Amino acid sequence: MSSSEIEQAIALLSKLPTLGPRSARRAILFLLTKKQTHFAPLIEALKNVHDNIKTCPECGNMDTSVPCAVCSDVLRQKSLVCVVQDVADLWALERAGAFKGVYHVLGGVLSALDGIGPDELEIDSLVRKVETGAVSEVILALPATVEGQTTAHYISDRLADSGVKISALSRGVPVGGELDYLDDGTLQMAFKARREV
Ligand SMILES: [Zn+2]
Repeated sequence: MSSSEIEQAIALLSKLPTLGPRSARRAILFLLTKKQTHFAPLIEALKNVHDNIKTCPECGNMDTSVPCAVCSDVLRQKSLVCVVQDVADLWALERAGAFKGVYHVLGGVLSALDGIGPDELEIDSLVRKVETGAVSEVILALPATVEGQTTAHYISDRLADSGVKISALSRGVPVGGELDYLDDGTLQMAFKARREV
């Protein structure tokens, strides 16, 4: 058995997504044996992110710079706005490199069951963004779940009078599948074959 400090570190690490107690124990053991090459740099990197992480006021992404790296990239097409439910989906799309516009993070999807209505999501701010006239197309990259599609319809309705082009990702995407779990090729295809709604 190890000391309570080590056990506490294992317990905290085991709470992370995809890690359980066994893999947390293995990870801590690995770090203990690689103190200089892995442990110290990891602590430094985590502390840096912890101290400097901010939510981008323009899109809702999380980054250490404000605006985020996507919004401050002059090569991105600011008139194309891709609507995603959360930062995980934004990062998944960025990883695939399929999109050269900017994003708008909703912070979830509509769900009567969970008591999430339009006011809980960044929908008004999306409408305001479109009303400035600076947006030519809104691409809805929302989950293929009932909640995701309800949210897509709600947003389409709210934007109907604005005259902005609204499209949705085409998908070979399984129902209930989340963007983060899709491979890059599938995401790139979904963007290329997006359809107007
Ligand atoms: Zn941003």
